Amino acid sequence: MSEVRSEAVLPVPLPVVNPDTAEFWAATAEGRLLGRRCADCSSFIWYPRPICPFCHSQNTAWEPLSGRGVIYSCTVVRRAGGDWKDVTPYVLAYVELDEGPRMMTNIVDCDVERVAIGDTVEVIFEDTGAGSAIPRFRPVSAS
Ligand SMILES: [Zn+2]
Repeated sequence: MSEVRSEAVLPVPLPVVNPDTAEFWAATAEGRLLGRRCADCSSFIWYPRPICPFCHSQNTAWEPLSGRGVIYSCTVVRRAGGDWKDVTPYVLAYVELDEGPRMMTNIVDCDVERVAIGDTVEVIFEDTGAGSAIPRFRPVSAS
């Protein structure tokens, strides 16, 4: 289980929860990151959904993810609007999880000028206050 913070450093949008994603979001509130795997072709399915996009099987199931990965791509956002206007600069990134999927997220707890592709990161969660939390990532020091 990973840290779930009640004090978010970035805006925390409320996710759209539906029957296909309810278990995913409930897990985030407990500091757990879930993915979905196809039992027929073994593909990891991201974003999580009940039907495998590779072989169309419905034989899929939730599986815990390590919450570790590397930055696949990133950018520093310096100008933004709305709720994000006052939190610039911040890092928008694709993180490639150890299990393979790439998720769009933010990198937090970092020097935005030093975040780089290939950096190792781990998940933390920022509580929405509504039974879910937004997964974000922070650098893992190389020590
Ligand atoms: Zn499949």
